[in-house]
Amino acid sequence: MKVVVVGGGLAGISAVEELRTQGHTGDITLIGAEPHPPYERPPLSKGLLLGSAEPDSVFVHDATWYDEQQVELLTGTAVAGIDLDTGHVLIGDRRLPYDRLLLATGATPRHLPLADRSGADVRYLRTLDDALALGDRLTEHVLIVGAGWIGLEVAAAVRAAGGTATVVEATSLPLGNALGPELGGLFADLHREHGVDLRLRTAVDAIDDSRGRTTVRLSDGHELSPDLVLVAIGAVPDDRLAVTAGLVHDHGVLVNGWLRASDPHVFAAGDVATHDHPLLGRIRVEHWDNAIHQGRHAARTMLGDDEPYDRQPYFFTDQYDLGMEHVGHVGPEGYDEVVVRGDLASRVTTTFWIRKGRVLAGMHTNDWDAIEPIRAWVGREATDELRDPAVPLAEL
Ligand code: FAD
Repeated sequence: MKVVVVGGGLAGISAVEELRTQGHTGDITLIGAEPHPPYERPPLSKGLLLGSAEPDSVFVHDATWYDEQQVELLTGTAVAGIDLDTGHVLIGDRRLPYDRLLLATGATPRHLPLADRSGADVRYLRTLDDALALGDRLTEHVLIVGAGWIGLEVAAAVRAAGGTATVVEATSLPLGNALGPELGGLFADLHREHGVDLRLRTAVDAIDDSRGRTTVRLSDGHELSPDLVLVAIGAVPDDRLAVTAGLVHDHGVLVNGWLRASDPHVFAAGDVATHDHPLLGRIRVEHWDNAIHQGRHAARTMLGDDEPYDRQPYFFTDQYDLGMEHVGHVGPEGYDEVVVRGDLASRVTTTFWIRKGRVLAGMHTNDWDAIEPIRAWVGREATDELRDPAVPLAEL
């Protein structure tokens, strides 16, 4: 069985590793558009910018691994199309056959057209090359559009480097959509304490670069003159191959519970996969853990495993001296109860989001022993003890 994996990110390499781990001896080709072999993205907005991680440390494997594992790795190679009828991927005028195909093409930053056409120094952060280029500019005045995970992590890196960080966020709190008001406020205070100029309920109205300097006009009437603008307003799935090939898609490649696409020989995993999750419904997850586990899962399904993918989403972030981990998913219907345990002032907390008495998600900040108990609560009925902060989590 010949397996072709399109997308040399974490989902792609995790699938390749799992195929070999499970004893698959057939041909494997891993194709990535970027010039680099697969690497980890989380350090791009953390250790790499902070100078605590070397660029070489982000690579998942060194070059010899691919030879040892007899994996054909094509970097700097963009797949242009898929011929589903004959089972080929198209690279220039080359047609590469497959028996099973994994689409792991990830996501790309959502663009802000008014910034793109302004002529100013506008950046996005997705790739290793983006991070290396941004790393040289952290001592300057960086205007960050969007107080999501990446925007806030870059703000922390700018402040650590001694630069000026302004963060402009259209909603009333950072991470408000992801965490709600209770925890969003904690992140707002954290960044302001570290000198970030955080402007909430504020949008960028215009960017002008015509007089030899960048002027950004905000919706509150203020004007700023940053050295560069980082746009961090989310990502969109890179499902173009699936769309042009005629695979069913829904803001991402639509896959069933087993990660199989509408063509039975094609699978998708990671940021590009819109998945019919057996417990959570239709969901697309843009996190490191999901890319790894879906990649592995798709590989096992290709080899004949019959388990649906039912892992709860998990993610983490580090900003200054605050680390957090989050498990579970608050769906579009939201939550009707939130339990915050611990101490918001010292930022050692655990939080549970609950709907109709059932725990949807939980997270901790700086309480590193809490993640396994939190994981165990997700999906269960909340109890009075869980709601009582006086009862330690470990004793529940
Ligand atoms: P990607 O990593 O996007 O890889 C897809 C690859 O496919 C890309 O290299 C792309 O060039 C390639 N490709 C696309 N189209 C083609 C084509 N036609 N032909 C060939 N190749 C193609 N998650 C967390 O949980 N915690 C974090 O702290 C965290 N930090 C992050 C920080 C940054 C700066 C970024 C950008 C992401 C972060 N994430 C984090 C998210 C996490 O890194 C992603 O969810 C994960 O990398 C997704 O992996 P993927 O393999 O699905 O996609």
